[in-house]
Amino acid sequence: MAASMASQAVARGLRGASAKYLFLDKFKCAGVSSRRWLNLQEYQSKKLMQESGVTVQRFYVADNPPDALQAAKRLNAKEIVLKAQILAGGRGKGVFSSGLKGGVHLTKDPSVVGELASKMLGYSLTTKQTPKEGVEVKTVMVAEALDITRETYFAILMDRACNGPVMVGSPQGGMDIEEVADKSPELIFKEVIDIFEGVRDDQALRMAANLGFKGPLERQAADQIMRLYDLFLKVDATQVEVNPLGETPEGQVVCFDAKISFDDNAEFRQKAVFAMGDMSESDPTETEAAKWDLKYIGLDGNIACFVNGAGLAMATCDIIDLHGGKPANFLDLGGGVKEKQVYEAFKLLTADPKVEAILVNIFGGIVNCAIIANGITKACRELELKVPLVVRLEGTNVQEAKRILSESGLPIVAANDLDDAAKKAVAAITRK
Ligand code: ADP
Ligand code: MG
Repeated sequence: MAASMASQAVARGLRGASAKYLFLDKFKCAGVSSRRWLNLQEYQSKKLMQESGVTVQRFYVADNPPDALQAAKRLNAKEIVLKAQILAGGRGKGVFSSGLKGGVHLTKDPSVVGELASKMLGYSLTTKQTPKEGVEVKTVMVAEALDITRETYFAILMDRACNGPVMVGSPQGGMDIEEVADKSPELIFKEVIDIFEGVRDDQALRMAANLGFKGPLERQAADQIMRLYDLFLKVDATQVEVNPLGETPEGQVVCFDAKISFDDNAEFRQKAVFAMGDMSESDPTETEAAKWDLKYIGLDGNIACFVNGAGLAMATCDIIDLHGGKPANFLDLGGGVKEKQVYEAFKLLTADPKVEAILVNIFGGIVNCAIIANGITKACRELELKVPLVVRLEGTNVQEAKRILSESGLPIVAANDLDDAAKKAVAAITRK
């Protein structure tokens, strides 16, 4: 019930950070954050891996079937793997809107690659990590396929409880890793990394052994682990996930899949990485909100929330839920709010046809309530607000803010506290 609305918002905000979702929450050692990280497509992540000396297969990228066919011929490989590029995982077991099953296809005949690609490109791929309607595939990766004798899971991620990076691995990687984490947690191994010391050789070797690499493969896997850690640091990643980190019959340890998430705070020094970022898979409203430094996540209800602070936004979603309403979004204005941001936030909320009422819940600590009040009145007038607006303001300069609102002559419903605000917002909709 109530808590689920907030956790739904947070979970959506973290979509893509699968290692966190898979392991750390279960081990109760990762703090939940509403921050959204930049994710890259598999082929982009693999380019970065190649640059750090990590072993990946040879590949080309194509955005149309003839190019995919050409790429397959050019690879001149014994077997070829065609992989749909979307940010979500679980592609192997996904289904396309064209009817084609599987976002990852292996074939020994390069001449079929064009036709296969034509059933992927331009169609949506639905996997257990995508929304129900799936995500449109705009690019495919055409890579050399290798036989895999064993699939392991390996990831490095930032973990708040450990105050730094941690390695997570399992000897049973591959497409059913969620099930392994659920049913056999003893097969998940963790290794905390000292940020000053880096990955020690004995740690890398122990992880390699825990992943089940034997003989000379143990050393090879440990080297891959060290290189993945170098990459993790070099690109300011919050997560580097390889599933599967596989072993071939020829005795090679290869990263067959790649998922890297990046720390937004490092954007200023990772210009090349952030320039690769593809926002086309993001919700357009979320992308527009990000331009104004607003943390916005769309939800399914009809009461828009306009709040400062992620915690307060979650509480607001939950209290709306408690009173029988449904939040239309999770919107965190953040700390140093400017009038322009208030206006833009209102514009986003009112443009959403689902929204039948707006609830403003501001606790002015750093935020000056008068700035919010001015932003609200300006937005109401210019956007000709048509839905009921319930406002609860508290904190810095609240008296002035209340004066601005009441003298505005606008039909704003004042609320005394959050509970009152949620009740009034739900009532406003019920009355309609
Ligand atoms: P996802 O995690 O989105 O399902 P993967 O890239 O992990 O996609 O691919 C799914 C499965 O396809 C892998 O677990 C592996 O068995 C197989 N696979 C992926 N790449 C290759 C490759 N280059 N050669 C052989 N098999 C591959
Ligand atoms: Mg995978």
